[in-house]
Amino acid sequence: MAIPTETVYGLSALARDEMAIRRVYEVKGRPPSHPLIVHFADADGAREWAGRWSQRAEVLAERFWPGPLTLIVERADFVPDAVTGGRSTVALRVPDHPLTSQLLRIVGDGLAAPSANRFGRVSPTTAAHVRDDLGDDVDYILDGGSCDIGLESTIVDCSVDPPQILRPGGIATEDVAAVVQKLAATSGPSRAPGMLSSHYAPRCRVILVEPGTPPGEPSTGRTRTLDANADPIIFAREMYTELRRADQDGIDTVVIELPPARGIGTAIRDRLSKAAANR
Ligand code: AMP
Ligand code: MG
Repeated sequence: MAIPTETVYGLSALARDEMAIRRVYEVKGRPPSHPLIVHFADADGAREWAGRWSQRAEVLAERFWPGPLTLIVERADFVPDAVTGGRSTVALRVPDHPLTSQLLRIVGDGLAAPSANRFGRVSPTTAAHVRDDLGDDVDYILDGGSCDIGLESTIVDCSVDPPQILRPGGIATEDVAAVVQKLAATSGPSRAPGMLSSHYAPRCRVILVEPGTPPGEPSTGRTRTLDANADPIIFAREMYTELRRADQDGIDTVVIELPPARGIGTAIRDRLSKAAANR
């Protein structure tokens, strides 16, 4: 079953049900080395899945849940290897979406949910995107409208000291750092499994220009220009829809003016650099 969240749509399965988890990997074509995020109605539910719940995890959960923040913590013994890729840690999140919060309360346990698209492609931010991508491979789509944030959660590894941001996302890095003073810089190769340099990729070519640089027009093919700098929050919401639209419209090249690397701009730059690494 596909579920809406404030970030992107997820393809969900009961996180304790190994058969259901395996089916999710199969439908997505996702390598088993990419562990899943488990979603809960509230922090109490999430805490049960942690083997150790540190003070910094508590502070971050308190400040940002429900919301687009995923915490990596040591896992409880019962957490299936299928969810964690055999790791000693598990990824936990409390999403902020009325329909999915209600569903999670009814389920009363964790739902593992990677984005509801085929592996490596653009994430879905509407129910129609999910149907376009997965067709009959998804039995039911809970239609919660367009996702409000439009790109994935910020992932913070709380199993290390100081905590480390593994993926920029819906919560600004600066806001996480303000809560966890000693947060490690995100320089160097990320330690997160499944962080590929090419991901979130449309079929068209993506060319990125720095803020304030007039986008030069490539001379061949059908080109479209997008401005991610004018209003990064609104751009994030529409970003995956725009990349899909470019493919549908047969555009060869999309030229995008980047926002500066602050706030949601850091996550936009991360996703677009992966979309641009496509070829
Ligand atoms: P998503 O693709 O949005 O479902 O996010 C899943 C990503 O979360 C994975 O590709 C990993 O990078 C990260 N992740 C999930 N579980 C773990 C874990 N136990 N340790 C480190 N990173 C994790
Ligand atoms: Mg994904």
